[in-house]
Amino acid sequence: MLNRNVETFLGCEASFNEASIILFGAPFDSTTSYRPGTRFASRAMRQESYGLETYSPYQGCDLSDYAVFDSGDLELPFGDPTEPLRMIRERTEMILAASKLPFLIGGEHLVTLGAVEAVFAKYPDLHIIHFDAHADLREEYLGNPLSHACVIRRCWDLLGDGRISQFGIRSGDRNEFDWNPGNQHVHTQLFDFEGLRQTLAAIGDKPVYFTVDLDVLDPSIFPGTGTPEAGGVSFTDLLHAVRLVIGQSNVVGCDVTELAPTLDPSGVSTAVACKVVREMLIALGRKSE
Ligand code: MN
Ligand code: MN
Repeated sequence: MLNRNVETFLGCEASFNEASIILFGAPFDSTTSYRPGTRFASRAMRQESYGLETYSPYQGCDLSDYAVFDSGDLELPFGDPTEPLRMIRERTEMILAASKLPFLIGGEHLVTLGAVEAVFAKYPDLHIIHFDAHADLREEYLGNPLSHACVIRRCWDLLGDGRISQFGIRSGDRNEFDWNPGNQHVHTQLFDFEGLRQTLAAIGDKPVYFTVDLDVLDPSIFPGTGTPEAGGVSFTDLLHAVRLVIGQSNVVGCDVTELAPTLDPSGVSTAVACKVVREMLIALGRKSE
């Protein structure tokens, strides 16, 4: 049989109407502070994903058992992030309006802000679970408040105190840590996922936006990223934590950001990112059953 030449992420071939999860890519990296290249992530991941099986031995489930629609990449202008963020917000709103779960693939981490604005508009009691090597709590970076180094601070501007919990953090400017003494604004867990279960229990069934900056992984597993930070978590640690968040909380939107595929010529980082996405999709699919 002949099929149309359309490339989607592995196992994501449902129609929009059938699907409960909608993938979309935001190939944007204009504010990346060190090495650019995340704009190539979503395309590289679609291609690399076919190196994986749809079946997950971790979860004993198959991605093809769930209805996921891959809506492709937004066509974003480069430079000023204002318009790209608006377009990401609009796409997210459209998905939420259809009562489906938006799953954004970056792009640099700033893309999260567009999705969070839309999700927060629908769910005013929103909480954020944030995995990252970097706190991303800067007020501004090189005079720019809309930088990937400021994205969680911008989310805090929206949500306020006690709504954001970050894990795996091992890098930040002194001002970022000084701004948050005793975790009074944002719950910051340094280096690992300790306390994640308790955080999720405290959030209960309130809506959660889950943002995964893949540089939370150790650069020995995941070198293909713009600002690698030694001392990161292992793949199995991340997998366990991701499944815990999705299994134990009411995730209403999520993203995976900061893969820069060309910075890892071996292609392993892209394969790792695809596996993270596969496991997240299966965990979300199991939840919606
Ligand atoms: Mn980040
Ligand atoms: Mn980071």
